[in-house]
Amino acid sequence: MSNQEPTPLVTGAGSGVGRATRFELADRGQPNATNIESALERNRAFAAAGGHERAVVFPNLRLFVITCLDPRVDPAHFLGLGLSDAIVVRNVGGRVTPEVINDVAFICQLAESALPDGPLFEAAVIHHTQCGTGALADDTFRHRYAERIGAEESTLLPHAVLDPAATVTRDVERLRSVPAISPRVSVSGHVYDVVTGLVETVIPAGR
Ligand SMILES: [Zn+2]
Repeated sequence: MSNQEPTPLVTGAGSGVGRATRFELADRGQPNATNIESALERNRAFAAAGGHERAVVFPNLRLFVITCLDPRVDPAHFLGLGLSDAIVVRNVGGRVTPEVINDVAFICQLAESALPDGPLFEAAVIHHTQCGTGALADDTFRHRYAERIGAEESTLLPHAVLDPAATVTRDVERLRSVPAISPRVSVSGHVYDVVTGLVETVIPAGR
């Protein structure tokens, strides 16, 4: 470290650990406070405060969240999830892709061995307003991206979240229809509004 110390990110023992509320203030014009170095500093504070000590493998809320990787859409913040509260998978758009289906099936199989009867967990799909996947509706962007990743361009448009209530409905239906997912897993669909900060349930939990 140089003598250009970054703005303190943790204001006291145990307070603010894992929260990024000062991120915007801290990283502007302060190269030492950016990227992984800044996060590692927070990690040391987290470990020193014992934040990891009561973590468990099976999530406290029996909840599996599928949502977008947009940094505004972090369920640790907007759902108030603490460590071990939920399993979270995030990808572009929070879409139920084949990879996500396999992840839910994997946790389903693990849960079945621990819980022989009754409900296993709830899978909550959460799409959001102002999603960046909307760029896939732009012909130029979509064409360039298809070339970049070697994909068929026509397969990319359905990935755009332009109407989050509609896409989350489709993705819930998709997850509910997969034979690899036990009927003991309930599936719900929601929309997170990045302007109001509120989540609205579109499809209540069920199968
Ligand atoms: Zn998004």
